[in-house]
Amino acid sequence: MAFFGMGPRPSASTDTKLYDLLGVPQNVENTELKKAYRKLAKQFHPDKNPEYGEKFKDISFAYEVLSDPEKRETYDSYGLEGLKEGRGGGGGGGMEDLFSSFFGDNIFGGGGHPFGGGGRGGSRRPGRRRMKGEDTMHQHKVSLEDLYNGKVAKLQLSKNVICVSCGGVGGKPGAMQPCRTCHGRGIKVTIRQLGPGMVQQMQSTCPDCRGEGERINEKDRCKKCNGVKVNKESKILEVHVDKGMKEGQKITFRGEGDQQPDVEPGDVVIVLVEKEHNQFKRIGNDLYMEHTIGITEALCGFQFSLTHLDDRKILIKYPPGKIIQPGCKRVVEGEGMPLYRNPFEKGNLIVKFNIEFPENNFTSEDKLKELEQLLPRRPETASPSEDSEEVTMMDFEQSNSGGNSREAYREDDEDDDHPGGGPSVQCAHQ
Ligand SMILES: [Zn+2]
Ligand SMILES: [Zn+2]
Repeated sequence: MAFFGMGPRPSASTDTKLYDLLGVPQNVENTELKKAYRKLAKQFHPDKNPEYGEKFKDISFAYEVLSDPEKRETYDSYGLEGLKEGRGGGGGGGMEDLFSSFFGDNIFGGGGHPFGGGGRGGSRRPGRRRMKGEDTMHQHKVSLEDLYNGKVAKLQLSKNVICVSCGGVGGKPGAMQPCRTCHGRGIKVTIRQLGPGMVQQMQSTCPDCRGEGERINEKDRCKKCNGVKVNKESKILEVHVDKGMKEGQKITFRGEGDQQPDVEPGDVVIVLVEKEHNQFKRIGNDLYMEHTIGITEALCGFQFSLTHLDDRKILIKYPPGKIIQPGCKRVVEGEGMPLYRNPFEKGNLIVKFNIEFPENNFTSEDKLKELEQLLPRRPETASPSEDSEEVTMMDFEQSNSGGNSREAYREDDEDDDHPGGGPSVQCAHQ
């Protein structure tokens, strides 16, 4: 799933019930998980506490899921419903039994189905479960403004839909015949001689029936789909980007994947990609920016105005008497990103300051003497001894130096650079 290098555990599902059952945080390590499970299992073991039999089953279920990396990922991404549908290679008889106990009891309150949508029973019983098609992942780029304000994006999607003309049969009823190339197996086996007594057997999808195992004579084929059983159609999906959503967050459209006869369509999963912003950098729920002020402001207080991601103008004030040092950070509480699903709460805005010093000879020597009266006193220096040699200091340039200092110079240079690029330049003179 991590096809473009998202974090190790992207989480779209807000379902944390299994973690809560074991009383562990979502980022719990395996050893801690095991400890928590053992403790609870001892406490609620049916031998000791027959009245807690259901609770014991729930704990065991939670542990079974969370201790299996694959199942845990499925659960983190899709919640219980995802597990129930046997995503990520889960499923199997044992799982099913556990599920029925888990969903049958009352931890979700009064027998109500935890996720609605008529999932229980019927078509999803073991053995009758339909094959599930692949999920389709799409990246969707969103601006920081969109993630701050929320928006609904319309995405056009092209997908295979069961042919309405033949109902997904591909031709007249009964026109289907087993493929003669692969004898109905859908797989072509090629044997290659590698050396004496050594053969390599390779399997590939049968090219004549495209792995279906059956074919239709040309004249009997459905005119609309040409025997393919599906047609390409385009569909508009409304992607709700909620306030506070993050890079890598997934928005799932159940069953909107490609349709195929006798296969339950997979999901379309939209993965959010956050575009870079020219003023703010987001880390978690906090926003970071740089701001350049002059030496006077750094010493004597200042205010500056800022247009926020929702176009609000905010005036940031800093009182005289409090000093801003080069590279220091100050925080404006509650002006960061809104929290996902709790957008009235917000993170913080952190401002890093660059100080611009005045130009050479910005004032006369007389005035400098006056200025010196106002500034903190110089440190006392010992008077030079008789044999001191007097040297002059000049501006340092790369050409002044030999060999090794090149590297040092470069590092210096990088330090002066504003990591965010544009931002500090943009707000330097307002
Ligand atoms: Zn057709
Ligand atoms: Zn075939």
